[in-house]
Amino acid sequence: MMSGAISSSACPEHTATMPPRTNIQPLLERLRQAHPDARYELNWSSPYELLVATILAAQCTDERVNRVTATLFQKYRGPQAFAEANTTELEEDLRPTGFYKQKAKSVQAMSRELLAKFGGEVPHTIEQLITLPGVARKTANVVLNTAFNIPSGVIVDTHVLRVSQRLGLTKHEKPEEIERDLMKLVPQDQWTFFGPAVVLHGRYTCTARKPRCEECPLNDLCPKIGV
Ligand code: SF4
Repeated sequence: MMSGAISSSACPEHTATMPPRTNIQPLLERLRQAHPDARYELNWSSPYELLVATILAAQCTDERVNRVTATLFQKYRGPQAFAEANTTELEEDLRPTGFYKQKAKSVQAMSRELLAKFGGEVPHTIEQLITLPGVARKTANVVLNTAFNIPSGVIVDTHVLRVSQRLGLTKHEKPEEIERDLMKLVPQDQWTFFGPAVVLHGRYTCTARKPRCEECPLNDLCPKIGV
């Protein structure tokens, strides 16, 4: 999945304080033309469901997660139901998403903590969200960006990581450092658009193994680093 990545050690002149590219506007305009209604492709009907679906999406396609949650969210309605679920049964329900034992454990631990600390309500700040078990910045940003339209940060998943490197928006490898670069480059009012748009761009055009540069709307703006 990391086939286009450059190594930060290959760029000794790069400093951690400044992202390497400053004029992001043309890129944002092209992305908006290509993905005017960019949204995450997970299905949900409450912030809690989106939180669960995002945890399940680790190492799994959104399509498969959507197939599982279509019945899962009918069977378990809300954090109490997940917290009190029979763990073995829940594991079986989550099996198609892979890493199902760990995911069942994460979803139950998160649900219990959500009930204990926040009365079962998904909090609105990243600082509170990342105190929940199994919830790192990426998951927290997906929930805050999508369910609450709060520009808490820029989601950095495997697609955003790869595409940002190829576009020369970052020379970093770690998601937290890449997110910091993107937060400096992209105006905050664009963060909730930029994340989903780059995820879609990475999923369907700038794919890991065979990026479709010839048909890419960003072609003339892209240094194609590592491609
Ligand atoms: S031109 Fe190629 S490397 Fe650059 S964003 Fe498009 S598909 Fe990716």
